[in-house]
Amino acid sequence: MTCLKPEGALPGAKGPQGLDFNPFEAMQPRAPGLVPPAMKNGRPVKQADLTPEGLYRPDYRVMTPNMRSPEYVQMSTAAAITLGLVEGRMHGCSCTRCLNLLLTYPEGCRANCAYCGLARHREAERNYADRNFIRVDWPAVPMDEVVDRVAADVAGTPFHRMCISMITHPNSDADTVTVLRKWTDRIDPDAIPISILSNPTTMTRADVQRLRDMGSDIFTVALDAATPALFDRTRGKGVQSPHSWAKYWEILMEARDIFGPKKFGAHIIVGMGETEYEVMQVVQRLVDLGGHSHMFCFFPEKGSLMDHLPATPRDQWRRVQLARYLVDYCGVRVDQMRFDEAGRIVDFGLPQSELSVIIDAGIAFRTSGCPGKFAEDISACDRPYGDSPVSDIASYPFPLKDVDLRKVRSQLNMEKPGETYAPGEEFDLL
Ligand code: SF4
Repeated sequence: MTCLKPEGALPGAKGPQGLDFNPFEAMQPRAPGLVPPAMKNGRPVKQADLTPEGLYRPDYRVMTPNMRSPEYVQMSTAAAITLGLVEGRMHGCSCTRCLNLLLTYPEGCRANCAYCGLARHREAERNYADRNFIRVDWPAVPMDEVVDRVAADVAGTPFHRMCISMITHPNSDADTVTVLRKWTDRIDPDAIPISILSNPTTMTRADVQRLRDMGSDIFTVALDAATPALFDRTRGKGVQSPHSWAKYWEILMEARDIFGPKKFGAHIIVGMGETEYEVMQVVQRLVDLGGHSHMFCFFPEKGSLMDHLPATPRDQWRRVQLARYLVDYCGVRVDQMRFDEAGRIVDFGLPQSELSVIIDAGIAFRTSGCPGKFAEDISACDRPYGDSPVSDIASYPFPLKDVDLRKVRSQLNMEKPGETYAPGEEFDLL
């Protein structure tokens, strides 16, 4: 048995009240403020009606052009660097392996999720295409240009996968189909597999089926919150947002039926107030259904309704990352694990020697998501620094080095004898 921490307040723990996890009571989002009518529904952008001229780099000091999917999409900064659209370097990685595309409209996403930088309440302060999302800017690009650039050298592309992220907008179902068709007309989905990050609230079974018929490989649902209460507080009535736990699971079950085993999954954000036991119950349920979970570490996104709250303590995050990897890829079941009164994992259900080998492989601590071409358990979607700063990496977008493993082991309180980690040591090597 691996007993990690005693219950209650802990010396050195970074979470609220000296705990090594984010408790439900401490993770209450702010209430959304009122949006002036002149700022609603992308009115400033539509009134100015500036014609976009190719690539648009988010800049809230200038008026945002009037860009709209399916003609335009946004992409992660990492994808834009990899495509050669913007200059930049990423710590530890030469590129990203997933081309993440995001639908875009002046009206933006009509939902109001408390942790999300794209949420509707932000129309009071920032136009949609200028909003930060998972810690980075999302440049906007004509979809035809994206396809031109990738189709010019499919064999040589660094991308192992392309993903279309839907948002909550009346046109997003139809426009996802058009964006997908623009891609598959020129690029073989067997050469670069396609994932859909869906928006269940507006979808039906027929929508899911159409996306499968058009060549999508994997369908995911951003459940994000691990319990119905947390879902409602962060994505539903608690923040005047339209989503419901039941509808998300309904579409997830349709995806299971239509896409089949290993071809569907759910995103879960760890550290928004759920217990480790609760999140692991969802992980196990997904595996029992034949799918996977893709984990994100909660980070207080600037401008979101949770930007005043603490990021997930690394102790909690590492325990859940490791436990999730064991369930998803090593055949361990949650009922073999043990939890304390606060729901924290105190026994991973494996002998120490076996656990140690899995920790040392490092894959458990890398970004999780849809697989690329290296291995089933290595995500193409590496989202560099999407859930943490470089100085305190949550999801590693690169293979862990010896110093990274020592850091992770120190966060897990599972250091090997004689192998310690000194804070900042990894940067001394640069
Ligand atoms: S539906 Fe997605 S994009 Fe829209 S606010 Fe919620 S998390 Fe953000």
